Amino acid sequence: MAEKISNKERMKIPRQLMPEQNPEIRRTNFGEVNLGFTEELARMEALRCIQCPKPTCVDGCPVGVKINEFIALVAEGDFLGAAEKMKEDNLLPAICGRVCPQEEQCEIKCIVGKKNEPVAIGRLERFVADYERETVGIRVPNLKTKTGKRIAIVGSGPAGLSCAGDLIQMGHDVTVFEALHELGGVLIYGIPEFRLPKSIVKAEIESLSKLGVEFKTNSVIGLTDTVDELMQNGYDAVFIAVGAGLPYFLNIPGENLNGVYSSNEFLTRVNLMKAYRFPEFDTPVFNCKDKSIAVFGGGNTAMDTVRISKRLGAKNAYIIYRRSDVEMPARAEEIHHAKEEGIEFILLSNPVEFIGDEKGWLKTVMIQKMELGEPDSSGRRRPIPIKGSEYELPIDMAVISIGNGSNPIIQKTTPDIQYNKWGNILVDEKTMKTSKKGVFAGGDIVTGGATVILAMGAGRKAAAAINDYLKSES
Ligand SMILES: Cc1cc2nc3c(=O)[nH]c(=O)nc-3n(C[C@H](O)[C@H](O)[C@H](O)COP(=O)(O)OP(=O)(O)OC[C@H]3O[C@@H](n4cnc5c(N)ncnc54)[C@H](O)[C@@H]3O)c2cc1C
Ligand code: SF4
Repeated sequence: MAEKISNKERMKIPRQLMPEQNPEIRRTNFGEVNLGFTEELARMEALRCIQCPKPTCVDGCPVGVKINEFIALVAEGDFLGAAEKMKEDNLLPAICGRVCPQEEQCEIKCIVGKKNEPVAIGRLERFVADYERETVGIRVPNLKTKTGKRIAIVGSGPAGLSCAGDLIQMGHDVTVFEALHELGGVLIYGIPEFRLPKSIVKAEIESLSKLGVEFKTNSVIGLTDTVDELMQNGYDAVFIAVGAGLPYFLNIPGENLNGVYSSNEFLTRVNLMKAYRFPEFDTPVFNCKDKSIAVFGGGNTAMDTVRISKRLGAKNAYIIYRRSDVEMPARAEEIHHAKEEGIEFILLSNPVEFIGDEKGWLKTVMIQKMELGEPDSSGRRRPIPIKGSEYELPIDMAVISIGNGSNPIIQKTTPDIQYNKWGNILVDEKTMKTSKKGVFAGGDIVTGGATVILAMGAGRKAAAAINDYLKSES
């Protein structure tokens, strides 16, 4: 069927909708919101791809997945072949298919998107990865002969995992050191179950274990061993991928009141300490039931936090953001889902003070209204406070979700690497090489908070450069 259909006919096929849980039901559970394509939907969507001779979509993918080729296999119904093709460039496709901002990367470059809606590349990626896992299990590629070289990777988020996947396939021995007791970085402790089930992250990490990657949890590099000690212990190169896990605060009065959290703390308690599986796990976390919860920020982290609070029973769940919804950095899909689930958006508003009771518990937040001025250095219009517009909003819990900076442990213990004034590691962008011989870095610790796929792209770039470095050294 795939080869008989003309491009004109392909262009007439509408973008296929992915089935999803009803918002009324899903806001009371932690099951996945998006339910994935059926085989029929996947093949129909794949037929929309016109197989461009110069597939611009591939240029938009930071890890260079051969998008046109895997989609052609989906259209033919060869789903396992499609999975194999995709994994030539991406060993974490079920994760990327769920959380990557495809609308800003591969899909924005899709030729079909110039006249119609672009091909749903992310949904097809997810379908293919799920199909393989659920039918034959994740298959791993054959390995090259061992080189005898050892690489230490610090951090098991997407940057560390993608670097590990490439290096092990090049024949090197790879050990990933992770500070927490669970692997996956933000994929596990940040992104909630209803967007990215933990079983899927674990299955994709398990495929790296099958390839021979060694994982060491509860290993805080800088405390258990320093970067120098890793090299003294026989590692030939080190890749630092420790992310940006230190939350920023608003620095306004009342921020120390009981009931004021950072998103990091709240999400860690819910995801890693499993409050989302209440009552099976009795995790100490704020009881949101019938309460008013305000989350300050407009990114993916803020959306995840507020949607969790709704699922934990919040009566009122607010997003309070100082710009308008046009400037919100969260994915459009997450904003749409949040609105469907009954999240209230209070835009052009900024907190100026948290006010508590005599026992030190949060009671209200003083909000000041804002208007938009000229664009600032981020390119987004600058929010300007409107004098005299302050008002009090009663809330029981506040969660600050305005971004993260770098944790200083590596900087303190490895001062001979160059850092910028925010503590991000400075690297050569082509190779991810740091100023220290044999040490490479990538992901959020270099860029500041970014995306899963950019972290993975950095991991892949570093793997190629580490391979070259090891060859040149021997
Ligand atoms: C709540 C939330 C939702 C998000 N949603 C999306 C989304 O939908 N789509 C998207 O593309 N991006 C999203 N992001 C951003 C994305 O998750 C990050 O950009 C990405 O995870 C960065 O990857 P990384 O490997 O650099 O770091 P991380 O994922 O942060 O992983 C770093 C790892 O290093 C470990 N570590 C830290 N210090 C040490 C040390 N000294 N020794 C050993 N290990 C250490 C940490 O414990 C962690 O496991 C979200 C982020 C958050 C917080
Ligand atoms: S740009 Fe769009 S239509 Fe062209 S090959 Fe890529 S996915 Fe297919």
